[in-house]
Amino acid sequence: MAQSFRMVDIIAKKRDGRPLTTAEIEWFIHGYTAGAIPDYQAAALAMAIYLRGMSRQETVDLTQAMAHSGDQLDLHDVAPFVVDKHSSGGVGDKTTLAVQPLVAACGVPVGKMSGRGLGSSGGTLDKMESIAGWRLELTLEQFKKQLADIGLVLAGQTAALAPADGKMYALRDVTATVASVPLIAASIMSKKLAAGADAIVLDVKLGSGAFMATVAEARELAQVMVNIGKDAGRRMVALLSDMNQPLGHAIGNALEVKEAIATLQGDGPQDFWAHSLEVAAQMLRLAGKTDDLDEAKRMITAARDDGRAWDKFGEMVIAQGGNVAQIDDPARLPAAAIVEPITAPHSGYIAGMDTGAIGWAAVHLGGGRMVKTDKIDHAVGFVLPAKIGAAFQAGDELGMVHAADRDAADQAKAELLAALSWSDEPVPPRPHFHGTVE
Ligand code: URA
Repeated sequence: MAQSFRMVDIIAKKRDGRPLTTAEIEWFIHGYTAGAIPDYQAAALAMAIYLRGMSRQETVDLTQAMAHSGDQLDLHDVAPFVVDKHSSGGVGDKTTLAVQPLVAACGVPVGKMSGRGLGSSGGTLDKMESIAGWRLELTLEQFKKQLADIGLVLAGQTAALAPADGKMYALRDVTATVASVPLIAASIMSKKLAAGADAIVLDVKLGSGAFMATVAEARELAQVMVNIGKDAGRRMVALLSDMNQPLGHAIGNALEVKEAIATLQGDGPQDFWAHSLEVAAQMLRLAGKTDDLDEAKRMITAARDDGRAWDKFGEMVIAQGGNVAQIDDPARLPAAAIVEPITAPHSGYIAGMDTGAIGWAAVHLGGGRMVKTDKIDHAVGFVLPAKIGAAFQAGDELGMVHAADRDAADQAKAELLAALSWSDEPVPPRPHFHGTVE
């Protein structure tokens, strides 16, 4: 019979800063997933881990235990080499929508399981559901068939894959234990390992709209995740990307789908294209298409310019039951009743943004959930071309709010303006990237 422990001893051990053994971590994850360990004890352990941290070995053990808490996907019968990406979460982060078809159009199959919104950060599935009829629930057989047929699938995470993460994440979300390096690393990497990717590009965000505030924290998280992936025999790279301002212009579900469509058609915001190009090129490189990142970027750019990536996106939408008329004519996507400008309250340079607060303003408009059961309004959000360092005169247009009614529009404008800080002196623009970890 498997070794047994007492949960209270494990909590006390971590509370006192002592490392947990592999057997203790496996016992905890197994018991918690099975419902034998109550939430209050798991929450106490999560807080002890948050405060005391974990060694590299403990983090690897936690990740492996969570990855093995459910099914392990093997896609090799339909795709010889599987490449995946994962973002640690941000505002306006519609990268998957652009990157997946770009990579698939270059002949590298991408079968991805994505998530819903989390706190102030949006979720790929919520964005895609702006397209009427688009189906995220696919059986494993449907997932594999679509991957074999068109080389591109975007589906919801099945409950069978890393169920320990599903339970732990929901618990962390409400116990102030999200922003912990070992807990985030284990959460992300357990899902990625269970989903069977051979190579993984991690997009680790840092700044006011991310869980990691500084470059140093993001680098630490990235290094831990890269090590875990390498130990498990996967090809890994992590990008450290700036989230001190929203990515691209659009924040909100249908608005972000429109921006991804424009980007695939060569007409997206410069920062979002630069970001997508980098992530997609890294995926091609890890998939072995070329060792030269510049060459990978040329291949990705060609797939955008000759329309192959756009066609791939359309194939995926059709295969998953989405209304293709809405992507051919994005004006047919959900649209808000009120669309009006947000203007600069005074002259000056934008010095900073509380990007998390901007994400929350979009949630308050109805674009995200305050409680699990909330229904999303896909139409609402912001289009905010204003970036840090840009100069404005009082009354200039900073962007647009898309709202369901007058009160929501007024509240959103106030929240957005409160999230901006201003300077009378010129402010340098923010960098997109802060390096990579391999
Ligand atoms: N994304 C995840 O999947 N898990 C985390 O813990 C944080 C971001």
